Amino acid sequence: MKKIVVVGGGASGLLAAGQAALSGADVLLLEKMKKPGNKILISGKGRCNITNDSDVHNHLSHFNRSGRFLHQAFARFFVPHLMEFFTENGLQLKTERGNRVFPANGKAQDVLHTLLRWLQQTGAKVECSKAVTGLHIEDDRVIGVFCGNQQIAADAVILATGGASYPATGSSGDGYNMARNAGHTIVPVRPALVPLVVKNHLQSLAGLDLRNTGVRVFVNGKRKKVEFGDLSFTRSGIGGPVILTLSKFVIEQLDKNRQVSVALDLKPALDDHKLDARLQRDFSTRHTEELQSVLRGLLPKQIIPLCLEQTGLSSTMLAGTISAKERTILKDWLKNVSFEISGYRSVREAIATAGGIKVKEVNPNTMESLLVQGLYVTGELLDIDADTGGYNLQAAFSTGWLAGRSAATSS
Ligand SMILES: Cc1cc2nc3c(=O)[nH]c(=O)nc-3n(C[C@H](O)[C@H](O)[C@H](O)COP(=O)(O)OP(=O)(O)OC[C@H]3O[C@@H](n4cnc5c(N)ncnc54)[C@H](O)[C@@H]3O)c2cc1C
Repeated sequence: MKKIVVVGGGASGLLAAGQAALSGADVLLLEKMKKPGNKILISGKGRCNITNDSDVHNHLSHFNRSGRFLHQAFARFFVPHLMEFFTENGLQLKTERGNRVFPANGKAQDVLHTLLRWLQQTGAKVECSKAVTGLHIEDDRVIGVFCGNQQIAADAVILATGGASYPATGSSGDGYNMARNAGHTIVPVRPALVPLVVKNHLQSLAGLDLRNTGVRVFVNGKRKKVEFGDLSFTRSGIGGPVILTLSKFVIEQLDKNRQVSVALDLKPALDDHKLDARLQRDFSTRHTEELQSVLRGLLPKQIIPLCLEQTGLSSTMLAGTISAKERTILKDWLKNVSFEISGYRSVREAIATAGGIKVKEVNPNTMESLLVQGLYVTGELLDIDADTGGYNLQAAFSTGWLAGRSAATSS
């Protein structure tokens, strides 16, 4: 019986281990943390957006350039397979806005429980608090792993140690060194999907969430991107889904020393004309109230001081006394709240890690290394990363499934 060691019990390692065991191998999964699957638990803010119910073309369009590498893995194990896998194993799913698929009860914990219960049924063994420190390679063939001073022999090793983001989950980038020592090229590791740092950021805005905000990105003064979505102010700048989506583009620009700013449209559903009409109506029906009180009907309380400071309007002026010019100043501000972006947070705070094992050095049909026989690599450890929306986990599940199947069945 073929002996397979899986290193790492995240989404890709769990699928790989179970699939290898179902394909007839004797499987041992080594996880360095006390429990596997920590990142699954925090995914999707604890709700775990397991995939995106859309076609391969859409999935690939959300990945970096290396995403094409996933064609074969997706051809073997894709969204319908994954959804069927979960429902057959007792986890009901629901599909939300943007085709995002979640467990129906919104609990990431149940995604992990389902995976662990299934894994147990497959016969794969799991050992936790076991940090693999190196790969045992002889004559360009992996023959086991080192775990502290212990040597564990294997006919094949599946390296599923994840990326370098949120290291407290256990994904601290160990696999990059192991792969580098095995001869692999590591495309520089950097953050993808990360909050942005705002120049002269106001601490008073931290914690403020803005729903359905329009975000325009300007590079060297020219408008380059427009997105809509939910945004959050952090202690050092801005984050939230719409900013994470834009972060990759922004990072590329900042790394080229370009000047980047974002302009928020706080009223994207109203064009200039409609917004002006709304302001006129508010100011005339509430003409005896102070501006700061009328603004509370238009804006979250936390951002009102910024509005008053940047527009230069007095908080105590009566709504009925506001001139057409002052109304235009307010309208323009609501449509165009600008922030200069001075940087981005580190990979430790990123939702995904960009960079990793160069995909040209891996066989896309099997996930086997083209440099070391018997070594398979999966998930975020590879140089693949995608937008938010369930794409990253689907890639982890698909590559894990394929690696497990290939490692167990290759001759
Ligand atoms: C906050 C957050 C929210 C996210 N939300 C979503 C979402 O909703 N949808 C989505 O698609 N993606 C989401 N992602 C991304 C997604 O979670 C990851 O892309 C995916 O989990 C990667 O899976 P993986 O198996 O490659 O690695 P990981 O899940 O990172 O697993 C790697 C495992 O290897 C173990 N390990 C590491 N080194 C060693 C070692 N030396 N020895 C033994 N074990 C080791 C780690 O402890 C860990 O358990 C989110 C990420 C974050 C950080």
